[in-house]
Amino acid sequence: MTDCAFCGCRVEAHDPVRATHDGTEYPFCNWACLTEYVEREGLATGTSCNWEPA
Ligand SMILES: [Zn+2]
Repeated sequence: MTDCAFCGCRVEAHDPVRATHDGTEYPFCNWACLTEYVEREGLATGTSCNWEPA
């Protein structure tokens, strides 16, 4: 079982999408969760080069 990096739901219950950042793989339920995660973390606003995963 894998938990969505954004909402914490089990990704297997949906249509999973996986994104890799700095060698770490982040699972998401679907593209919507991935997009929301990116916006929440500000990954698309110019700070992504310095972003450190928690
Ligand atoms: Zn999710």
